Amino acid sequence: MDSDRNTVWHRGHVTKSDRNRLNIHDSGVIWFTGLSASGKSTIAHLIEKKLFEEKVRVYVFDGDNIRYGLNVNLGFSDEDRKENIRRIVEVAKLFVEAGVVVLAAFITPFREQREYIRNQFRGMQYLEVYVNCDIEECMRRDPKGLYEKAKSGVINDYTSISSPFEEPANPDLILDTSLLNIDDAVARVLEHIKATNFLKLPS
Ligand code: ADP
Repeated sequence: MDSDRNTVWHRGHVTKSDRNRLNIHDSGVIWFTGLSASGKSTIAHLIEKKLFEEKVRVYVFDGDNIRYGLNVNLGFSDEDRKENIRRIVEVAKLFVEAGVVVLAAFITPFREQREYIRNQFRGMQYLEVYVNCDIEECMRRDPKGLYEKAKSGVINDYTSISSPFEEPANPDLILDTSLLNIDDAVARVLEHIKATNFLKLPS
């Protein structure tokens, strides 16, 4: 019970395990971190399609989509980035509880943020995938023209131009998309899901 707010978490009759058994797979989170244009979103959406075809309940959380609605009132200051992640994590937890595999595609540039995220999903299936791509290649791709805007100062606090990206120290998987093509990157993640029994029901 939260005595300050007089709120009590209401436990339903249907549990996460019940939902996982109905779905015939475990739920959890695969968190894609990496520079803008490294390929997080492209890869996550293709994995969603593949898993969906295998009857997995799966849903992509995408940086831009979340900022359109839930986090429309947040900017890119350190404080707002923190709140952005906090809300995403809380919604992702509800999805995991509801039996869904969440594919989260967010730059997540700070080590401290990624540690916070990993801790929040402790006890649940969780993988951190570092979508690594060198900055020159990301700038060349620039699918949304944002690097161009950041370089000319139209956008402030842009990761790796005017705000840092701290290399992940211990990701579960690294995809080097300067070397791997999109299909191979997707295949690597699917292999890792199989190899780690990510979707297997807990016994
Ligand atoms: P992010 O979500 O990391 O910002 P996006 O997925 O939105 O990145 O954009 C990546 C762009 O790079 C897409 O236009 C994609 O087609 C292109 N691309 C080229 N090669 C690759 C690759 N090997 N892996 C992922 N994306 C690639």
